[in-house]
Amino acid sequence: MSEEKKDFFVSDISLSYQYTAGNATTRFLNKVAEGKLVAQKCPKCSAVYVPPRGSCPRCGVATEEELELPDTGAVESFTIVHIPIPGNPIVPPYVSAMIRLDGADISFLHLIQEIDLADIRIGMRVQAVWKDKSDWGTTLENIKWFKPTGEDDVDPSVFKFKE
Ligand SMILES: [Zn+2]
Repeated sequence: MSEEKKDFFVSDISLSYQYTAGNATTRFLNKVAEGKLVAQKCPKCSAVYVPPRGSCPRCGVATEEELELPDTGAVESFTIVHIPIPGNPIVPPYVSAMIRLDGADISFLHLIQEIDLADIRIGMRVQAVWKDKSDWGTTLENIKWFKPTGEDDVDPSVFKFKE
């Protein structure tokens, strides 16, 4: 394969996005604005989804039953980010983790802070650190990050999706 020389230029651009959340996510984010983490439960397999999407992807049925979960959970997986991301104010290195809230069957991505990077591990118990209430909006950014609770780790087998 021959290498073709191409002309190019580098330029900064700005794009703005408008995200339509949908019914389930809108309900979830409105509760987050009140400091609540509200999941939805599948009527068929009892799986608990947070953030909810309005249906169970496994059973294909609507999830309408809602339940409030605590802001505590465990680290299901994680990565330590060393490379700065343009426009991201967080200075590396930092931990991005999939957090499984207590009572949930799926996890979501968030930051772990207030930790020595060498101590992060799967199964570590964590709790949300919320922003000041006056700064709350309809976003998971109401939670600044999660921090270790110091409790005993959970057995990673709890992360298996229930049959
Ligand atoms: Zn289901």
